[in-house]
Amino acid sequence: MELPTRHFFRGDDGYEQARARTVWNARTPERYPDLVAQAADVDDVVAAVRYAAAHDLQIGIRSGGHSWAGNHIRDGGVLLDVHGLDRCEVDAEAGTAVVGPGVGGSVLAGRLWEQDLFFPAGHCKGVCIGGYLLQGGYGWNSRVLGPACESVLGLDVVTADGEQIYIDGENHADLYWAARGSGPGFFAVVTAFHLKLHRRPRVCGSSLYVYPIELAEQIYPWARSISAEVDRRVEFQMVASRAVPGAGLDSPGIVMASPVFADTEQEAIDALALLETCPVRDRALVAVPYAPTDLETWYAGVMSNYPDGYRYATDNIWTSASADELMPGITRILETMPPHPAHFLWLNWGPSPQRQDMAYSMEDEVYLALYGVWRDAADDEKYGDWARSNMAAMEPLQTGIQLADENLGRRPAPFATPEAMARLDRVRAEYDPQGRFHSWMGRA
Ligand SMILES: Cc1cc2nc3c(=O)[nH]c(=O)nc-3n(C[C@H](O)[C@H](O)[C@H](O)COP(=O)(O)OP(=O)(O)OC[C@H]3O[C@@H](n4cnc5c(N)ncnc54)[C@H](O)[C@@H]3O)c2cc1C
Repeated sequence: MELPTRHFFRGDDGYEQARARTVWNARTPERYPDLVAQAADVDDVVAAVRYAAAHDLQIGIRSGGHSWAGNHIRDGGVLLDVHGLDRCEVDAEAGTAVVGPGVGGSVLAGRLWEQDLFFPAGHCKGVCIGGYLLQGGYGWNSRVLGPACESVLGLDVVTADGEQIYIDGENHADLYWAARGSGPGFFAVVTAFHLKLHRRPRVCGSSLYVYPIELAEQIYPWARSISAEVDRRVEFQMVASRAVPGAGLDSPGIVMASPVFADTEQEAIDALALLETCPVRDRALVAVPYAPTDLETWYAGVMSNYPDGYRYATDNIWTSASADELMPGITRILETMPPHPAHFLWLNWGPSPQRQDMAYSMEDEVYLALYGVWRDAADDEKYGDWARSNMAAMEPLQTGIQLADENLGRRPAPFATPEAMARLDRVRAEYDPQGRFHSWMGRA
């Protein structure tokens, strides 16, 4: 059985470089596949999958390598790197695109923007659509457009026995159902996504408020009290950290930077007006109720929280708990938070509309996520468990978790309804009876 031209067995020159380059997090997992295979095209993918089947090896797949946990890097088996599958064909007239898994969401968004088109790509540069779309996809304007996987019309995949098939609502409908929400536990290799595109909103803007962290006890309960009323065109989010260099603040602060998407500036201003009702509004260090913006500015702002070359450990919960229930956990998070750029994200999400029938089946009103971020490996012990331990302490308040910021290997938690999990197991047994593809970490 032939392998892709570029492959490295453990012990080969180039193996460690090929393994390490598959993870963006500087904390490269201490897990070692037998073989790293780099696919340049679909034939390479087929070859790698058939080789793995012939040698009874399991497969981990990498597109952009932005899984915080490095989910694709496992001990033994094949690490199949499909980052090179980066076609991007846009049919502006039809409002569709065919895009390879190795294409960065920001790259896709940028190309569409120029053509007055839009896709709910993720909020950060570097994240590729391969992992992003499989797990759901919380992107620009996703409160209106839905998690991005709802805009996946179909997929080209290579199955566990090395067959190339196209899947959608009519063809292999069960596998299509699974591909939209199973994330790092999907059991086929995606070689292309067929996407529905959207019209670019006429007005894109943002509000920006920065508050000192001492006001947390007023701010979070207020945010919870308005959460159901926030206009769906507004992504209301708060990031707390020990410093806000962008605003010249070297003490702890809470940044509310909320993108808005509308047809007119007045609509955008009106949609954001609720954020002016914060009871400590007069103590804001920065207050910009509305400013027009564009993709590049947004990406630059977000990326200041996710610098390259740092070590990351994340965890998260969905919740609909009350402010009274949440505040003890939030206070503990803020008190124990490591130095900037570590941060705590509060994202106002629900109440959500009825979703399509797909494996993605768990969400709630509020999303809380912790991002432990530090530079020095010597601090792994000091900061490595901050995210997990604080989310574990709030477990009684969690409905479940998002796969985007999963830490399942360290803290197993539900990410789909029990019915969806049972169906995922059934579909996996049908399409991958030998368990060729790794399951979610933390789950046998
Ligand atoms: C800095 C940063 C910012 C982020 N921002 C957002 C955000 O705004 N919204 C959001 O929803 N998420 C966000 N995420 C989470 C991100 O979407 C997920 O980690 C996603 O899985 C990354 O996709 P990837 O292809 O880059 O990663 P990878 O690590 O390559 O993929 C993750 C997993 O998906 C599976 N997989 C990947 N490609 C394939 C394929 N071709 N076929 C089959 N299985 C595959 C594998 O199991 C793999 O382990 C962010 C992550 C980071 C690091």
